[in-house]
Amino acid sequence: MAPPRRPVESGVPDPMPFMHPLLRKNYGTWRWHERPRPGVLRHVAASGDEVWTVKAGTQRQLDVYTVRALCAIATDLADGHLRFTTRSNVEFMVGAAERVDPLIARLEAEGFPVGGTGNSVSMISHTQGWLHCDIPGTDASGVVKALMDAVHHEFTHEEMPNKVKITTSCCQINCGGQGDIAINIQHTKPPKINHDLVAGVCERPAVVARCPVAAIRPAMVNGKPSLEVDEAKCVCCGACYPPCPPMQINDPVHSKLAIWVGGKHSSTRSKPTFHKLVAAGIPNNPPRWPEATEIVLTILDAYKSGAKPWERVGEWVERIGWARFFEETGLPFTKYHVDNWRGSRGSLNSSAHLHF
Ligand code: SF4
Ligand code: SF4
Repeated sequence: MAPPRRPVESGVPDPMPFMHPLLRKNYGTWRWHERPRPGVLRHVAASGDEVWTVKAGTQRQLDVYTVRALCAIATDLADGHLRFTTRSNVEFMVGAAERVDPLIARLEAEGFPVGGTGNSVSMISHTQGWLHCDIPGTDASGVVKALMDAVHHEFTHEEMPNKVKITTSCCQINCGGQGDIAINIQHTKPPKINHDLVAGVCERPAVVARCPVAAIRPAMVNGKPSLEVDEAKCVCCGACYPPCPPMQINDPVHSKLAIWVGGKHSSTRSKPTFHKLVAAGIPNNPPRWPEATEIVLTILDAYKSGAKPWERVGEWVERIGWARFFEETGLPFTKYHVDNWRGSRGSLNSSAHLHF
């Protein structure tokens, strides 16, 4: 009898061979840790070993020269090891306090700011943007670069009431997840259909099924099988564009940015929450996105001065109330902020207990 077919394991590789030797040696036996200064963690193991971790910001989408520069720093000053966090910070580990300052000096000299720990604004997590997703309406990594330049001080200092986790997403699928503050694309017009291409490119039933509000119907246009959109129903979500690129929804004028506030994935202090819309119709304005940056800075200022110690952004807003939030930030409150569609209770995911 033929042996049973074994599954091919192609998932996450075993991290142990790549781990810093001190981390491998003391795996699972860490006793306590502290943050001696922004950007530096000190972990002490039961064996008495210490590991000092230095965290620095990167631009995330790294060119080969930057990767080589980071590897050279690891080779020269950090036992040849480095690792990346989910927010695209780079971390170097060393086994003695006196090796920390030279590492910081080298990182800063080469343009990598040290910080992102504790109650700082850590690196903004972002989705792929124009570089390598096929449906973005903006460049999430570009928004991040512009914003992180503006909040450099808040990355290198721990002066916020609690951690601030900012996210960006370059389409309304929002694979960036929930954030204390989120900058997400917002389409404002229905897709434009290139009827010459639909029959050859799109699987029409799949596209019809994709629409959350049943606005797409099969149609014959100019003698060819195509699709049509009931624009009165369309909510401009963009979900039809990935399976059917001839339904173009990205638009240089009408694809805007929206800013959302108060989301979080973690279960610490309070349960996970969805972020909520606070500003819409913001120009998608590369390469520096000044309008979105100014709004984020305003929200950060209000949070920094108004929140109690350890309140996350969403907890601060819940305490003072949304009316006060709009007063404090000066953002206009409009009828579009009122989420009064009761159908969502039965048909949409209403839990933020999803971890990425
Ligand atoms: S947010 Fe949308 S466009 Fe951006 S990477 Fe994720 S799925 Fe792609
Ligand atoms: S953009 Fe969204 S709502 Fe509009 S037709 Fe496409 S899938 Fe439907």
